[in-house]
Amino acid sequence: MNQTPMQSILHKPEFSQAELVQLLNASGDEEKALFSYASEVKQQHVGNTVYLRGLIEFSNICEKNCYYCGIRRDNTSTHRYCLTNGEVLEAIRFAHENGFGSVAIQSGELSSDAFIRKIDFILKEAMRMTNREIGITLSCGEQSEEVYRRWFESGAGRYLLRIESSSEELYYKIHPKDETHSFTKRLNALEALKKTGYQTGTGVMIGLPFQTAGHLASDLLFMKQFDIDMCGMGPYIEHTQTPLYKNRSELIPLQERFALSLKMVALLRILMPDINIAATTALQSIEKNGREKALCVGANVLMPNITPKQYRDDYFLYQNKPVSQQSNEDDLRFLEQQLKSIGHEIGYFKQGNSKHYRK
Ligand code: SAM
Ligand code: SF4
Repeated sequence: MNQTPMQSILHKPEFSQAELVQLLNASGDEEKALFSYASEVKQQHVGNTVYLRGLIEFSNICEKNCYYCGIRRDNTSTHRYCLTNGEVLEAIRFAHENGFGSVAIQSGELSSDAFIRKIDFILKEAMRMTNREIGITLSCGEQSEEVYRRWFESGAGRYLLRIESSSEELYYKIHPKDETHSFTKRLNALEALKKTGYQTGTGVMIGLPFQTAGHLASDLLFMKQFDIDMCGMGPYIEHTQTPLYKNRSELIPLQERFALSLKMVALLRILMPDINIAATTALQSIEKNGREKALCVGANVLMPNITPKQYRDDYFLYQNKPVSQQSNEDDLRFLEQQLKSIGHEIGYFKQGNSKHYRK
């Protein structure tokens, strides 16, 4: 049977930047062909098991001032919090007992000794409490190689540090250009994580002002070339109390950011068949079943929020961030049903480490 031009690109062993741009611009039948091929690749390499990481939004106190983020240092209208050790350990206990297999601890970036020691203590306690059964992903920003090593030795096996954009020029349009927001430092931090031995994850925001399909194609090639083990990427969503809000008229509509994000997930699955790819919360804030759609085109990890409810409104990164009113147990049962309806199942009691890393 004759292949369409899209199918002949899709089945090539590698994609050029121009081909990736073409694929990112796919619509209608071409987009369907892309999604269906990505879903095939996913089935072949990682199957239909979805691994859970109970997301603990540890603290919204941050030393940085990224132009897009609602919890940036200079946003004085944010009520700041940091969970107590007991609250974090209770969330970890919940995840462990309910078969999550893993948790992800995410927070604003702090470099103080107190912060470093607190994370270290929590890691050690979590390992002791769960007999090393719980997998832990950290996403606590840029730290020194020494700190990364300390946390790794205390029990964190994975680290997620988004490059946000692999274009240095675009990076400095969405971050201040200074010592604390250095693109080179970000790259070096990613290298340090890999060198330390973490399953290393990165990702980008999709649909940023000033961003083109060319930028996104280069982001995909960057992730491939860096040989990441996992990825968390999702749509950029504006927040009124941030400097980037003034550029909102330049944004593509939310639905287009959503569609583009699905294509990014699908293409990354084709480029890197055995890595872990998260279906991120930002997708769900645009479409209620956005995460399920991402699972159907290549994602294999979900991060249900298990932060104590009273703090969730304060971890306000962008508009319309979903906050469930249900109990964590009810959320889990609901998720299980949703996943069943799309032919997926939860990998209960499994850490769900990246197959790519294990190789
Ligand atoms: N502070 C750590 C860091 O920046 O790596 C981890 C926490 S930070 C809140 C996690 C991610 O949130 C960032 O990497 C960024 O991509 C995402 N984020 C922040 N503001 C966002 C926005 N307005 N829309 C979508 N994602 C956003
Ligand atoms: Fe802080 Fe991370 Fe938000 Fe930047 S993205 S302001 S480092 S929490």
